[in-house]
Amino acid sequence: MKPLAEGKPDPLAGKHSNTNIPKAIGSARQYTLTANQSDAVIAQRTWDILVNHHSYVTGGNGNYEYLGQPGKLNDALSDNTAESCCIYNMLKLTGHLFAWKPSASLMNYFERALYNDILASQNPKTAMMLYFEPLRMGAKKQFSDSLHSFTCCVGSGMENHTKYTENIYFEGADGSLYVNLFIPSELNWRSKGVSITQNTSYPESNTTSFTVTTQKPATFSFKLRQPWWAKGIPVVKINGQTVNSTTNDEGYIVVANKWRNNDKMELSFEMNLYAEAMPDNANRVIA
Ligand SMILES: [Zn+2]
Repeated sequence: MKPLAEGKPDPLAGKHSNTNIPKAIGSARQYTLTANQSDAVIAQRTWDILVNHHSYVTGGNGNYEYLGQPGKLNDALSDNTAESCCIYNMLKLTGHLFAWKPSASLMNYFERALYNDILASQNPKTAMMLYFEPLRMGAKKQFSDSLHSFTCCVGSGMENHTKYTENIYFEGADGSLYVNLFIPSELNWRSKGVSITQNTSYPESNTTSFTVTTQKPATFSFKLRQPWWAKGIPVVKINGQTVNSTTNDEGYIVVANKWRNNDKMELSFEMNLYAEAMPDNANRVIA
């Protein structure tokens, strides 16, 4: 942690991933309580280094639980990549960083890892969990069983699938409502005296809608995450009428309005196919 606080270049290379991410979460918590700046630096740098230099396209990191050299992922594909606990902890760290300074890039990572790693880590038939998400070509998932394979990832895995409601919504310092994730949900926003119901079948559909329930008109802005995978700015309609939408410098589409009971806002994305290459091999591509 000290080399991180001192700004030394990537002290996490070669280290055990899931020993270090929880330390950064500890630093994030300490910063929240003490405002000690070096704790904030540790938490932020851990996130930046792991996301930008050690993460696979799915959002996971680590091979046989360890981090390799920065940007070297092409030859780090095995049956034992992307330990689930590391993703669990990266999502936790992301939530802390977002609470300090909202940004779509944090929640773009969150969504990438949530859908590609966490959702993919549970066996839909048995509900058991993955220890590693194998990224080697031709590999298959090895789920835990109920009696003979209890890893750390079964422990964090039990929590994973109860946490889908976390981080969908945040209340902004200016009284706005951040919408980070497109997950069917109902928000009981007590301080504003409104309820908001989000309906969507994303990622199968390209739309999501929000219905406001309120006893009296409420003035506030929605801040909707502009996803990295969408082409252009999504179309926003309020009660069927298209409204102008622009993206702010945090990467959120701001929709200000005086909301009345049963007002409905719909958001449509232009979904886009794209490819991402390995950082160290432009010819190895996942689409
Ligand atoms: Zn684990």
